[in-house]
Amino acid sequence: MRIYKEFGFEAAHFLPSAPEGHANSRMHGHSFRAVVWMEGEPDPDTGLIREFGSLLDVLNDVKAELDHRCLNEVEGLSVPTLENICVWIWGRLAPRLKRLSRVEVHRDSCHEGCVYDGPTD
Ligand SMILES: [Zn+2]
Repeated sequence: MRIYKEFGFEAAHFLPSAPEGHANSRMHGHSFRAVVWMEGEPDPDTGLIREFGSLLDVLNDVKAELDHRCLNEVEGLSVPTLENICVWIWGRLAPRLKRLSRVEVHRDSCHEGCVYDGPTD
């Protein structure tokens, strides 16, 4: 069984690897939407995999590191692709959410996103 919670953040970025003159090589912004999944059996006493309020507290801490920032300037995100943002969010959440099972990051206005199920090893 899995639960999820979403949070949004607004951020600017550019992609250093984009070819010179490509739009992605210039600073621009997106509305990002992250979806965080947790997996497991509900606690028999509470009926919950995780209480959503406490999950929101964790997600708000991560959001605060990303929202209204230039992602390239965030430590560990010098190449802020969707893929790398997923891995970065996973790294922030995993120590605090032991049942973390998936991180998605979407750019809905572009109809694109990335899904990360965590490290394979
Ligand atoms: Zn972009």
